[in-house]
Amino acid sequence: MGALASWVVLAVALGQSSAPYVRSRVTPGDAATQCLYWTQNRVVWQQSTVGNQKVTNHTEFKAISDSFQSWQDVFANCGNLTLAEGPRVDSRTVGYARTGDNINLILFRSRSCRDVVAPTDACFADDTCANTYDCWDDSNGTIAITLTTYDERTGIVYDSDISFNAAAFNFTTGNGGPCGIVANPDCVETDVQNTATHEVGHFVGLDHTLATGSTMNPSAPPGEVSKRILDTGSKSFVCAAYPRGSASQPCIPLPPDSNGGGDDDDDGCSAATGGLAVLPLLAAASLLARRRRRGMR
Ligand SMILES: [Zn+2]
Repeated sequence: MGALASWVVLAVALGQSSAPYVRSRVTPGDAATQCLYWTQNRVVWQQSTVGNQKVTNHTEFKAISDSFQSWQDVFANCGNLTLAEGPRVDSRTVGYARTGDNINLILFRSRSCRDVVAPTDACFADDTCANTYDCWDDSNGTIAITLTTYDERTGIVYDSDISFNAAAFNFTTGNGGPCGIVANPDCVETDVQNTATHEVGHFVGLDHTLATGSTMNPSAPPGEVSKRILDTGSKSFVCAAYPRGSASQPCIPLPPDSNGGGDDDDDGCSAATGGLAVLPLLAAASLLARRRRRGMR
């Protein structure tokens, strides 16, 4: 018991767990706050039409599709939602759009905001540079970021977008081993599928873990491809949080008035509830928060 207690204290002090998987929370790392999860049974995601502007063969599109497919294979086996790829889109805007069609967007930013935006621009303080100038506005050392929008009370996810830092990283899709001093054309520098499979883990509600061999380890050295393959801990998250035949699982029971989904047994009085439903919806919208899930370093 004493050893366990001190291990827990150490893990909390470091802010990192070695559990087989760690679910993302409304307040990262705070188990007193709700977990993040999707409640719909189908989530459509779409790639930006431009792909990675730093390359010409555009094999990144398939690498990203393969990453989502690795997760979809697990969902098809034991989960309750379908991750479906929609058509490529021209949008370059990440975040949640409260009106109009919302897009779960996957895109590469090919230039750093520091290189293309005046340092005095208010967008840095407003955190709007990335969308306004189509640039990477986070740390140069971050490979990718998944931006997830969710309801702070319920943890229900409304939108998730993945941005790749092609301004600072040379993304590859080859299988020829790590790039050495003399690079061969098929060598691995920062592997797209390795990166994307990790980010899709954030997309579906996973945080980092230090568990050995996990796709959700926070770091990814150059040449790494091991995260392309999902580990057993990450797979078990899908079966536990998104159980087939059941609703997606919060970590803390939801209050009865905030279960997110519509009440299917209210069909008989839909005209009466139609007007009332607007109020809770607006209340929920005001609580929406945007959080940056840290990408791999
Ligand atoms: Zn990460």
